[in-house]
Amino acid sequence: MTSKYRQRDESLYTEPPINEEYANNPHILSWWTDTHDLVILTRIKRYRWLWHKGIADRSVSDDLLDITPDATINHWRDTDPLCRGRTIKSVLTDFARARARDAGLISHLKSAGWTTCRLCGESFIEDSLPLPLIRRISINRIVFCSPCLTDIYFNDVSVRGTHDISHEDTLSYVQELAATLGYVPPRDFGTTPEDTASLTT
Ligand SMILES: [Zn+2]
Repeated sequence: MTSKYRQRDESLYTEPPINEEYANNPHILSWWTDTHDLVILTRIKRYRWLWHKGIADRSVSDDLLDITPDATINHWRDTDPLCRGRTIKSVLTDFARARARDAGLISHLKSAGWTTCRLCGESFIEDSLPLPLIRRISINRIVFCSPCLTDIYFNDVSVRGTHDISHEDTLSYVQELAATLGYVPPRDFGTTPEDTASLTT
């Protein structure tokens, strides 16, 4: 079996079905506002298919709870039967997924598409990148496939001539270089004058 870090054509984020009934939960709708919808919409635009998951150390439930008064949350938790035996974050995430569809917010989602890796030239589907890799790059700028990013982030990332620097330093070097070049440099970057020519302009 191929590791999920070593493949380019399998979507890794198949979702459990949404229970549309959750969108009608009166215990949440009683305090729900346009601002809560805006939180969902913002995350859909920013994080695409990961909008309801934990990314950048925040989940959609974190963002929704942040803008809701404590007294409101406490009252909801104490009166909603769904909150018995489940965390409020889990109940709220289910509601948000149903709400995104019910209110039409999900139409703003830009689905994962096929693109070509700028490093190896192979085509890959954007959501074939495992979450730990997406967390290291911008989800709106997926230009490298999972095998290439895995080599850079998790395997031998030594850059020629800098074997004495730490793994962490190497990573930040690659990240800085990628930001300057607009792509992740190949492992032998810097060994020919052409490599650095573009850096000076
Ligand atoms: Zn690649």
